Amino acid sequence: MIQEIQIYNTLTRQKEVFEPLVPGKLGMYVCGPTVYGPPHLGHARSAITFDLIFRFLKAIGYKVRYVRNITDVGHLVADADEGEDKIAKQAKLDELEPMEVVQKYTNLFHHSMELLNVAPPSIEPRASGHIVEQIEEVKKILKSGYAYESNGSVYFDVEKFAAENEYGKLSGRKIEDLISNTRTLDGQSEKRSGLDFALWKKAQPEHIMHWPSPWSEGFPGWHLECTAMSCKYLGETFDIHGGGMDLTFPHHEAEMAQSKASHGKDAVHYWMHNNMITLNGQKMGKSLGNAISLEEFFSGNHPLLEKAYSPMTIRFFMLQAHYRSTLDFSNEALQASEKGLERLMKALAKIDSLPVSDSSSVKIEELAQNCFSAMADDMNSPIAMSYLFEGVKIINSVSDGNTNITPSDRDALKQLFHTLVVDIFGLKAESQAEAGNTEVLTEVVDLLMKLRLEAKANKDWATSDKIRKELTAIGFDIKDTKDGASWELKK
Ligand code: ZN
Repeated sequence: MIQEIQIYNTLTRQKEVFEPLVPGKLGMYVCGPTVYGPPHLGHARSAITFDLIFRFLKAIGYKVRYVRNITDVGHLVADADEGEDKIAKQAKLDELEPMEVVQKYTNLFHHSMELLNVAPPSIEPRASGHIVEQIEEVKKILKSGYAYESNGSVYFDVEKFAAENEYGKLSGRKIEDLISNTRTLDGQSEKRSGLDFALWKKAQPEHIMHWPSPWSEGFPGWHLECTAMSCKYLGETFDIHGGGMDLTFPHHEAEMAQSKASHGKDAVHYWMHNNMITLNGQKMGKSLGNAISLEEFFSGNHPLLEKAYSPMTIRFFMLQAHYRSTLDFSNEALQASEKGLERLMKALAKIDSLPVSDSSSVKIEELAQNCFSAMADDMNSPIAMSYLFEGVKIINSVSDGNTNITPSDRDALKQLFHTLVVDIFGLKAESQAEAGNTEVLTEVVDLLMKLRLEAKANKDWATSDKIRKELTAIGFDIKDTKDGASWELKK
C-alpha cells in the first residue's frame, strides 16, 4: 500500500525518502526525560510523537529497535557545566536520596505514559547505569584530539572540532556567531573557550552523585550519555534520532560532534524533532509559572483548567496537529477534541453491527490509501485523521440506512479503523479508573432513586418531588414506569 516514506530531516531541512541502513529493520533513539519532576505536556508531546512513528513503522512491517533513555545524572541546572545537578537539587528539596527522586519520577513518568497508551520502548537505558561506556567515549575523544583535560575535568574542544568539521548545522547556528557570543563570558574558567562543553566533570565536595574515572572522582556531562547509549544499543550509525526541538542546541549539536570525534563518522541518518507546546498562545515552562503537569490535566486540578481532560483526549488532541507544528493548548480546543474523540470511538464501536448490502456506494480502498499516504508523508497525522473522519461519516450513514456497503467493504473499513485508530494512533476506550468513576456515579443515582421510591410509598410527595427536580436540574432524565422508575444521563 505504501510506495515510499518521506521524512523531514532537521539536518538537511528537507523531506527525504526514508531508506533504512538495513532493509526491513531500523534503529531509533529518542532523548527521554530528565527525571526530577512530574511529567508535563512537553514530555507527552515528544513521547506521543515518537510513539506514533514507532507504531506506524511497525504497522507497515519494519522491525524497529526503539531506545529511549532516562537521564538520571549529569544534567545540570540551566544546561550548564557548572552548578547543581537537577536531580540532586530536587533531592535536597524533597529530603530524598537522589536515586529515590529518580525512582519516584521515573515511576510517575511510566504511569503517565501508560495512561496515554504510549508503548514502552524496546530498551530504556539509564545514564547512571552506563558510566563505564561513557568513560570509554571520553577516552576515544581524548585520543582523537578533540578533547582536553583541565583540573580533573575533560572538555570537548569545540573550536578545534569546528575548524575541521561542521558544528552548528543541525540547529542552524554559525560557529563565528557562537564564538563571538561566548567570548565576552570567558573568565577564569578552566575551559579553553566558553563554547566547550564538559565530557567529564570533577565532582565538587557538595556533589552527591559521583564515580571514579581516570581523571577524577566525578560524573559525565549530560550530552555524553546519548552518544554512549545509542552506540551501545544501535551501533555507530543508526537510522533515526529524535527529541523535542528545544534539544537541537546544545544537546544534539554536542551529540553529533561527540560521535564524529569518537567514531570518525556521523552517527545519525535522519534527525527528527517535534515542535513545542504553547498554552493560550504563550510558551510553557516551569519558570513561567504556566507549566501544567499531566496529572493536573487528568484531574483538572489547576486554576487554568476548566475541567479534567482524559489521557485519550490529550493524545487525540496531539495527533490532530502535525508533529512539526507548534501546538496551542486551550480549554476550548481540548473540549473540541473530547467531542471529536467520542465521535471517532463511537463509530469504531459501530462497525461490526453495520447492515450490509449487495453493493457499495463508497470507496473504502481509496479512503485507506489516502490515510496511509498521509502517514507516509512525514507522519501527517492531521491529514490521516481528516480522512478517518470521512470514514466516520460513512459509518454513520450506513448505520442510519442512507448508504449501502458490501460485507467485504465493511471488513476493509473495520481493518482500516483498527490499524489506524488502535494500532497506529494508539487510541483506546478510556481507562479503568474512569470506568470506575462511572460505576460509582451509577450506584449513587440508583440510591437516590430508591430513596425517592420509598418517599413515594410513604406518600411523602415533597421529598420524592425534590429528588426528581434536583436530579433533572443536574441533567438526569427521570421516567416513572409501571415497575418503579428509570433514569438516564442526558448529555
Ligand atoms: Zn539525548
